[in-house]
Amino acid sequence: MKNLIFGLAIVSTVVMKAQTQIIAHRGYWQTQPATTENSVKALENAQKLKIYGSEFDVRMTKDGVLVINHDEHHGKMEISETNFKDLEKLKLSNGENFPTLKDYLKQGKKDPSLKLIVEIKPIDSPEKENEIVQKTIKMIKDMKLESQSEFISFSLNICKEIKRLEPSFKVQYLNGELSPEQIKKEGLDGLDYHYSIFEKNPTWIAEAKALGLITNSWTVNDAEVFNQLKNQGIGFITTNIPDQLKK
Ligand code: MG
Repeated sequence: MKNLIFGLAIVSTVVMKAQTQIIAHRGYWQTQPATTENSVKALENAQKLKIYGSEFDVRMTKDGVLVINHDEHHGKMEISETNFKDLEKLKLSNGENFPTLKDYLKQGKKDPSLKLIVEIKPIDSPEKENEIVQKTIKMIKDMKLESQSEFISFSLNICKEIKRLEPSFKVQYLNGELSPEQIKKEGLDGLDYHYSIFEKNPTWIAEAKALGLITNSWTVNDAEVFNQLKNQGIGFITTNIPDQLKK
């Protein structure tokens, strides 16, 4: 009997590990009432859900401050062409201050069980990309958040630069044109692709898993798409409805 219980405990642990994990896309902001995506409040909401992680977008201002925003613009201001003191005059739509990476990491540190999925946005100059990577990594290390942070980018240069500086950091590529084998050759840890890419390449999830790569898909806001990916054994999905897919 004891052996049986022990056996079942092992099996259930393995099954749990094999389950698809949920990542909130730009935090959990589709609440009632809704809050602003990429706000500190959205990260705080994600912390309450007890999911795997919360994703957010990092950009750099003209004077080199790292801020959290999806679009290139904050209001009408182009972030990369505007100094932080001008950007912060405009609050977020939920009344919060325009968040910096530091604000975000401080909130993230309050709950070590929630992974911080750091998306570094591409920039048209490789030098600037290397600068944003170097600054982001420095801040994460200064705040001792190395083991709580994972990285994603549409820029192959950014992904490779993170791995060059910190080989132990987990880095996944977002852009979708590289096969699992190519991702492995580039020295990255995984692929985080739009679900349509996995529909077009139905063998990729299995191939990636066989190569030991992390598999993730965005932005999955539909239970049917979620179940299809889950049945293929995907490791993670990134979603705007983390509360619903968690069930
Ligand atoms: Mg993003």
